[in-house]
Amino acid sequence: MISEKLQKAFNDQITAELWSSNLYLQMSFYLAKEGWDGFAHWMLKQADEEREHAVSLANYLTKRGGVAKVTMIDVVPDGWGDVKAVFSHVYEHECHVSRLIDDLVDVASAEKDKATQDFLWGFVREQVEEEATAQGILDKVSKLGDAGLVALDEQLGRR
Ligand code: MG
Repeated sequence: MISEKLQKAFNDQITAELWSSNLYLQMSFYLAKEGWDGFAHWMLKQADEEREHAVSLANYLTKRGGVAKVTMIDVVPDGWGDVKAVFSHVYEHECHVSRLIDDLVDVASAEKDKATQDFLWGFVREQVEEEATAQGILDKVSKLGDAGLVALDEQLGRR
């Protein structure tokens, strides 16, 4: 049985993952509007992935006798200056999410819940990938001219 404190922390993280999903969905809409169909497609997949993170946390919570809850999701920002601003925001946001996951591990550790710590290491590892992917795309976007950006848009559209 999961502790009350961890249940609350998990539900807070479910809310954060759903907010992330909405953020990336909004970014996808923005990119599509700007004519970047490939980047928009990539971002839509990213939004789906964040929703899957929320479901994965909820499934674990249920398995441990907790109650998963979907609460109100705050409004997300919209309107970025360009593609680089979007991916710069993605990178910063993923670093923020990494800190949230680390805090969640701290709660599990304070509660002496070994099973939950074990479950969360998967999320810790996932964040290493998320940060690296966002940083990688941002690096490319920063260096590329218009022609290169069109090629990258096409490439990410195949995700
Ligand atoms: Mg996530």
